[in-house]
Amino acid sequence: MKRTAKLSKADKELIAAATAAIKERYRYDWQEVGAALRTRSGRIFTGINLDAYLGRMAVCAEAVALGRAFVDLGDDGIETIVAVRHPDPEEKNQAVAVVSPCGACRELIFDYDRKARVIVPNGKSAQVVPIAELLPNKYRRGPER
Ligand SMILES: [Zn+2]
Repeated sequence: MKRTAKLSKADKELIAAATAAIKERYRYDWQEVGAALRTRSGRIFTGINLDAYLGRMAVCAEAVALGRAFVDLGDDGIETIVAVRHPDPEEKNQAVAVVSPCGACRELIFDYDRKARVIVPNGKSAQVVPIAELLPNKYRRGPER
């Protein structure tokens, strides 16, 4: 894959799926991020973040989407994944927009598909980057291979 790639029609579909998921389930301070992933066999799964009163119990939207994919298909890899954030009510004139995966999600995505493509913000637009590029010098148990 090129270092960065423009969005394909399929990438835009994924952003639309993530956007639809969070628009449907947005709740102030509880659900504000949506995610969508396409598995290697081409199925799309969506997720929303699960915030929690105890912060350490919070789960990111990407993990929820991955869990849904796993329940249905088992390990089918992640061809492409994206997360989007819904604006809060006081953020007038803001639209749902692509956000970068957090550090923990970068680890998770890499663990489940080290060739995953990730849609990330690029100014007001978005672009595609390989997960490995978002996680240089990743932690490994044991010696380098
Ligand atoms: Zn995350």
